[in-house]
Amino acid sequence: MTNASEYVKKIQEEIHQRNGHEPEFLQAIDEFFPTIVPFLENHPEYIDHNLLALVTEPERVIQFRVPWQDDQGNWQVNRGFRIQFNSAMGPYKGGLRFHPSVNLSILKFLAFEQIFKNSLTGLPIGGGKGGSDFDPKGKSDAEVMRFCQSFMTELAKHIGPNTDIPAGDIGVGKREIGYLYGTYKRLKQYDAGVLTGKPVEFWGSKGRTEATGYGAVYFVKHLLADLNEDFTDKVALVSGSGNVAIYCIEKLYQLGAKPVTCSDSNGFIYDEAGIDLALLKELKEVKRARLTEYVKARPNAKYYENQSVWETDFNAELAFPCATQNEINLEQGQRLVKNGVRIVAEGANMPSSVEAAEYFVENKVYYCPGKAANAGGVAVSALEMSQNSQRLQWDKEEVDVQLDKIMKNIYENCRDTALLHDQKDNFMLGANIAGFARVAEAMEIQGLV
Ligand code: NDP
Repeated sequence: MTNASEYVKKIQEEIHQRNGHEPEFLQAIDEFFPTIVPFLENHPEYIDHNLLALVTEPERVIQFRVPWQDDQGNWQVNRGFRIQFNSAMGPYKGGLRFHPSVNLSILKFLAFEQIFKNSLTGLPIGGGKGGSDFDPKGKSDAEVMRFCQSFMTELAKHIGPNTDIPAGDIGVGKREIGYLYGTYKRLKQYDAGVLTGKPVEFWGSKGRTEATGYGAVYFVKHLLADLNEDFTDKVALVSGSGNVAIYCIEKLYQLGAKPVTCSDSNGFIYDEAGIDLALLKELKEVKRARLTEYVKARPNAKYYENQSVWETDFNAELAFPCATQNEINLEQGQRLVKNGVRIVAEGANMPSSVEAAEYFVENKVYYCPGKAANAGGVAVSALEMSQNSQRLQWDKEEVDVQLDKIMKNIYENCRDTALLHDQKDNFMLGANIAGFARVAEAMEIQGLV
């Protein structure tokens, strides 16, 4: 029998050879693989059954063309994708991303992470992800609607409330989910359970919009409680200004912290007095404006054009990267630690490079990886599925209590799994092993299909 570390290296090399043109997927693999060695040492049956080769190959990859007409009457064509990666724990579940950078590599990394994130929630959902290289930015509502209708005309063939339930992600919010759902309904009859993140007016869950950002802060709340601390007067750096960032900022304020930054892809804001949340919501959720507008209304704040939050020297204890993958490289990670950051909680998926993440762990920063810290969104999506099945809509307070409970469980699971493997506070290892353990067991029981 091969030993665990040799086996992991062998499969890792094979995956690199077969997927050499997919850097983000390989990055997710490279972050994940070394951390599960101690688990495999105690489970030689998974090595014998070559489980790693199985779990890293998507069950199904769907790619399709999406033709649509712009406001000038020109025909445009984008690519649409859905990765149905793993259904051992339940129907495929994961968001749709509309962004010009979207490709197979990015969606495979997101779907791979989603498997273990969903497993960590303890809810019966498998892992998937999808999207398109369509860019909703700068498009009219009518263009976005026509695109969504064309996208769903094909996607509807592959999803369903008991098989694959997409939700939102970057570039896909309530507006897009509304248009997507309308087309699904025309094609397949009414079934609200096919998408989550729906507007609350037609069977969306109350509290879903807030869930990812709130959940990331709840994760840290439980960590701080273990350290006999709370958020009072702690300064937080936040990146992004979309769904996750806005509600992360909101919950940070509610719990007594002061978030001082936010960003978009053109630059970032530093507001020493604390980000003006009402203004941010007005700009981003109502006007769909850029952050340059923020400083016009708050002259004491500073806008840094074409710069990242992570390239500066502000002192803060907390960092919440909430924009996109690979925002924080090793150098930026080192800089954060030098400037006093003690806790990095990832609202975004894989915002830290492998080197930055490892640096945090080695330097005793409490590093809360995305698959654990941002699982609140998908958890409330699963609660939305339950509400849709029951034909009920729960109170916002009830959803929030459930979210906090789920985030507490995820935190404790990561903490305890790390401890069990003599890696106290290594939440990266804890999250990967705890997430993988459930999936591996389910795959074994189902006959390694
Ligand atoms: P939104 O589209 O609402 O917001 C994304 C934000 O990130 C915007 O401020 C956007 O700026 C910025 N951004 C996007 N791409 C880039 C880039 N390449 N460089 C710099 N900034 C960028 O998305 P969400 O808030 O929903 O998602 C943010 C992150 O959280 C993603 O990693 C997503 O996968 C993750 N996530 C989201 C969940 C959810 O429930 N929505 C659940 C779990 C994770 P700009 O407007 O200029 O593009």
